[in-house]
Amino acid sequence: MSEGEADDAGGMRRPRAAAAVAAAALFAAVAAVLALTTPWNPLPGNVPGGRVRPDPALDFSPAELARSKAFDSAISPPAYTGLVVGLALILVLGLTPLGARLIGRVTARTGHRLLRVIVASAALAALLRVAGLPFDAWRESVLRRYGLSTQTWPSWLLDQVKSLGVAWVISTIALLLLYWVAHRFPRYWWTGAAAGGFLLVVLVSFVYPIAVEPVFNKFHSLPRGQLRSDLLDMARRDGVPVEDVLVADASRRTTSLNAYVSGFGSTRRIVLYDTLLESPPARVESIVAHELGHAKRDDVLYGTLVGALGIAGAMCLLYLLMTSPRLLRRAGVAPTGPPGRAPDDRGGGAADPRSIALVLALVAAGTQIGAPVQNLVSRRIEARADAHALNLTRDPATFVSMQHELSVRNISDLRPDALEYVLWLTHPSGPDRIAMARTWARLHHVPQPPPLR
Ligand SMILES: [Zn+2]
Repeated sequence: MSEGEADDAGGMRRPRAAAAVAAAALFAAVAAVLALTTPWNPLPGNVPGGRVRPDPALDFSPAELARSKAFDSAISPPAYTGLVVGLALILVLGLTPLGARLIGRVTARTGHRLLRVIVASAALAALLRVAGLPFDAWRESVLRRYGLSTQTWPSWLLDQVKSLGVAWVISTIALLLLYWVAHRFPRYWWTGAAAGGFLLVVLVSFVYPIAVEPVFNKFHSLPRGQLRSDLLDMARRDGVPVEDVLVADASRRTTSLNAYVSGFGSTRRIVLYDTLLESPPARVESIVAHELGHAKRDDVLYGTLVGALGIAGAMCLLYLLMTSPRLLRRAGVAPTGPPGRAPDDRGGGAADPRSIALVLALVAAGTQIGAPVQNLVSRRIEARADAHALNLTRDPATFVSMQHELSVRNISDLRPDALEYVLWLTHPSGPDRIAMARTWARLHHVPQPPPLR
């Protein structure tokens, strides 16, 4: 071994430097794309009389405000404790030898390396889901107390099993690819992981509406009639090619109202909760106009591509962390084998399936760190879809009444605090959206929707 390699087991310095440069470049690209393309101000222009400030008391009765506050107090403890316990568990498993020991035990009789990946992934996914179950059940009991859930416990439990199955399939595919490429190319697996991560995110987002959503809901076309033809007319007027509007049997699970766009290209669909169909048609149009805003801007595809770019950067960072002998030792995994040789499968290194707990811990930490940025950008994109709905319907009064109905029926948080915005809010709050509709009315010299109470 030469002098230079003494502190560079396996000649990892050069690939690590390359991975660091790639990670920095990819994260810089994501930051630049987000900074330049996020609609920071979806309603540009000089607003006569100024922008309207959100004021929940203007449109919501004291009883509605009190109910929202009580629901928030009831749903927050399971949400926060579930988040903290879930994170703490995976961090303890991944950043101490506990996870590696556990995986060693459950895969002791499993011969093939990739089979060990499958077993380890199943064991960890199940363990994490079971640990989260009390908090999910607690949350469900709150939803039930407030009349938001229509499920029985057996059907709720079946949902938990299904979502465990979906999470397990997706994470197993990802881990199999990762451990295959890490084993095959011990020094340069970050290139394959970055490319594979990018493609997998795009693929999952594309097939999600046809492969995952039907696991949880049944869908049918919105029946022929006035509403359907009005909605398709509106889409045509908007220049968005929509052949069908789907209805999901959401009422088997919830009383809340919602609609969404998922997929892109040939899998793109606009879906309405069946609970929404009891609302007045003009309000449904207001919601669909918002969804058309997403469809027209290809928000799902855009979010998928930016997310995929972020995952590619994260894979380069993952390589840097997973080739750190200190971190591997901390996780109870022996670092690379003899210098210059591929880490052998039992011997250690990032290709050792016992490091899966460490991978999951790093992914969980990264996801949590990225969430506030994701939520911030999502809120601006949602506001742009709202602006689109207002431009298309030119009916801020109906928009306001729909937002009011959404907030009341879903018992939305009418006064979210700063932490709630950062951690949970993918959409502006109901009062934020209502204030925006009033701002839109001022901007377009249309009568401002009066207070609802
Ligand atoms: Zn939206």
